[in-house]
Amino acid sequence: MLTALAGVLGHPVAHSRSPAMHNAAFRALGLDWRYVKLPVSPALFPETARALPGSGYRGANVTIPHKVAALSLADAATAAARGVGAANTFSFAVDGAIEADNTDAGGFVDALGESPRGRRALVLGAGGAGRAVAWALREEGAAEVLIWNRTPQRATELARELELEPVSAPRSADIVVNATSVGLDIGDAAEAGRALGLAQLDAPIVVVDLVYAERPTPVVAWGERVGARVVDGLEVLVRQGARSFERWTGEEPPLDVMRAAARAG
Ligand code: NAP
Repeated sequence: MLTALAGVLGHPVAHSRSPAMHNAAFRALGLDWRYVKLPVSPALFPETARALPGSGYRGANVTIPHKVAALSLADAATAAARGVGAANTFSFAVDGAIEADNTDAGGFVDALGESPRGRRALVLGAGGAGRAVAWALREEGAAEVLIWNRTPQRATELARELELEPVSAPRSADIVVNATSVGLDIGDAAEAGRALGLAQLDAPIVVVDLVYAERPTPVVAWGERVGARVVDGLEVLVRQGARSFERWTGEEPPLDVMRAAARAG
């Protein structure tokens, strides 16, 4: 008999690597838990989320397009979820109360692998992922966080909200983070480089690409070419998942097991 369930609420979730990653971690620690895909439309999201604690669920991840709705639905929220303005992790109390967290922010910092304190960072993208990354960099003491977005108004709005600096064109920085979907929708390296203005940037110290795909993404390839340390999107996925796993189970996440499962697809 299963002790507990967890899952990922999204629309779509068919291609999520989270079930493979979490189920491998449960197995490695001998936990009788199961992690499942929970496809749900925006219209049915609140009712579905509310029903989970009564159906054996101890926690859930939340992905596109529900992350903002997840925060407003929750009964309590961590400082990270409130600061980012969106949640990707639910923890369910015995009485059914929902606590929302944002492990995208902390997971990004874990994946970055060094403190951004005193560094200049450039965040490409002002969507949901850009918001979590920009907030995390500010919280961790980056000296400057520049936000660029294809649609400039979104960069201006996010920068105003977080008291950061919008830029109308990408500028050189120590840390460059791709938080756009370029690399998913644009696979061609030259075209992706043009879309993100990569050619006009000096080589950064670290490049983080949130996008992950079967092949090395154009931004990962660029980072390697210019000699930066490169962190790919799968490492960010693993680190946000590890933080969720620890919240739900109280156990130290088996990172290598999670990495291997995420990379196997
Ligand atoms: P989102 O809210 O839909 O935002 C998409 C962003 O991409 C916007 O900034 C958008 O700019 C930009 N964009 C799309 N096409 C572009 C193009 N051709 N040129 C320049 N910019 C373009 O999505 P999101 O939730 O932020 O996610 C962004 C990416 O991060 C996705 O690929 C997602 O899979 C990935 N992600 C990965 C992780 C992880 O754990 N590795 C976690 C979260 C997200 P406009 O505003 O101009 O449309």
